[in-house]
Amino acid sequence: MNSVGDRRELLKAVYEQARGCVRCPLHKTRTTVVFGAGNADAELMFIGEAPGATEDRTGLSFVGQAGKLLDKLLGEIGIERKDVFVANTVKCRPPDNRDPHPHELDACAEYLHRQVDLIEPSVICTLGNFSTKLMRSDATGISRLHGQEEVRVIGSRAVRLYPLYHPAAALYTQATLEMLRADFHRIPQLLALGAPAQPPPIEPIPEAEDVVAAPEDPVPPATGGDPAPTTPQLGLF
Ligand code: URA
Repeated sequence: MNSVGDRRELLKAVYEQARGCVRCPLHKTRTTVVFGAGNADAELMFIGEAPGATEDRTGLSFVGQAGKLLDKLLGEIGIERKDVFVANTVKCRPPDNRDPHPHELDACAEYLHRQVDLIEPSVICTLGNFSTKLMRSDATGISRLHGQEEVRVIGSRAVRLYPLYHPAAALYTQATLEMLRADFHRIPQLLALGAPAQPPPIEPIPEAEDVVAAPEDPVPPATGGDPAPTTPQLGLF
């Protein structure tokens, strides 16, 4: 098992990898990779949909009005943004804020799974329909699922998955805000339960003794390209 310090260093390495990622076409239109930010040892993690224009510019997740509401609701339960980790289903802004495409989600999933594996949260709140459907691999919508926790394996970690309405949806509809608030107020109870039982670790595949070394791969690695300028994200975890 890795120490907190080791996990933080490994998370930084994943961040460095993501900064230069060219795995999907979103790298062509992004300004900055929005890796996600917060506490690298958070018990509570949020997964939104995708970076918007401000996030793309600043490199930070959930800035703007939806982010302010997220902060306010966290404050009501005595938690600060710096205590949690906030990420998205994809790390680059889809043009015109469209939904991420399946191949973009597939290309980005490994980063999110690595984040969950390294941060080791007990509770993951999906924010909104898109993230909830993706994380549950199921088409059931947020209006049926919000506020109902269940144990799910994300990456290789079992977590208490807790779907919530997206704060952006609650900005304009009072009834949605009240449901989001009520669901938020149950988060401390879920955190108090601690992490669910973890699945057994995946055994590494034993290496064959007589494997002939492959010639050096002439194809550039999947993540490369010029690293984007350092953003404040790194300082946050
Ligand atoms: N900002 C994000 O980072 N994600 C969202 O889903 C919405 C706004």
